[in-house]
This record gives sequence, structure tokens and C-alpha cells, in this order.
Amino acid sequence: MNNCIFCRIAAGDIPAHVIYSNQVGLAFLDIRPLAAGHTLWIPKQHYGSLDEITDHAAVELLKELPRLAKTVRDVTDSGGYNILLNNGTVAGQEVAHVHFHIIPRREDDDLGYRWLAGEYPDGQAEALQERLHRVLMNHA
Ligand code: 5GP
Ligand code: ZN
Repeated sequence: MNNCIFCRIAAGDIPAHVIYSNQVGLAFLDIRPLAAGHTLWIPKQHYGSLDEITDHAAVELLKELPRLAKTVRDVTDSGGYNILLNNGTVAGQEVAHVHFHIIPRREDDDLGYRWLAGEYPDGQAEALQERLHRVLMNHA
């Protein structure tokens, strides 16, 4: 028996306010919304985090995301939205089944969005750029 709450929602074993469903994904309202209309868009198949999903799932989920986000924004009459995807407990992921948050935003919602940005010490950005580029280009 799969104990993953989102797998159980995808299977229809647990109720949710589903707003959209296709072969690959399911969109439903977050049970503890940051704003009315706060939506979760998940693959029906279980993947723990973004870096685990297949190319097919990635394409199919991203293909629908703009239309879902636009619909949530328009229907809730909000000015914009944040797309959030937490990966790993340290990043605030509580449900270990990958999910996009679509969070409608308003001028006066007090949610905020600016995180405290840092600065690179001399040479660190260049060193990171070099390492990351090398790994991404498979020259590691
Ligand atoms: P995370 O912190 O993992 O990125 O976000 C998990 C989200 O899932 C939270 O916003 C939480 O409110 C939502 N959530 C957790 N359990 C349920 C549930 O059983 N049903 C619904 N609709 N949302 C849930
Ligand atoms: Zn799952």
C-alpha cells in the first residue's frame, strides 16, 4: 500500500478539490491555501522531486502549467502568481511527491516574496561557474 498522500489523491482514494486532470497530471486545491485558488499540479505517477521525473513527465507537466496558472490567476481575479516547487526537506518540501504550487498574488496579500540575497566573495562565482559548466557539459 502506497502511503504517499498525493499518490492516494491521484488514485482517488482521498478526496480533493480537483480542478483539472489529464493522462499525466492532476491539479487540485491546496488544503491549506496561501491564497484562495492556491493550486497544486502533480504528476499522477510518483516522483520524489523534480530531478527524478522522466523527460516525458517533465514535458507534459510543463506544457499545461501556463494554462493552469493563467486560469487560476484569471478566475481568482488576482494580478499575478508565484510558481513554487520545493525540493528536499531543507527546501521546505513536506510532501515527498513532486508538485508545482500555483499561488495567486494580490497587491495587499502580505505574503511577501523577497528572500535575503547574499554576495559572492571574490572568485567564488567564477569558480562555481567553471565547475557547474564543466559538469553540465559532461567534461567533469
Ligand atoms: P510542500 O511544502 O511539500 O511544497 O507543500 C505541500 C503542500 O501540500 C502544502 O501546501 C499542504 O497544504 C498541501 N497538502 C498536504 N496534504 C494535503 C492534502 O491531503 N490535500 C491537499 N489538497 N493538500 C495537501
Ligand atoms: Zn506519491
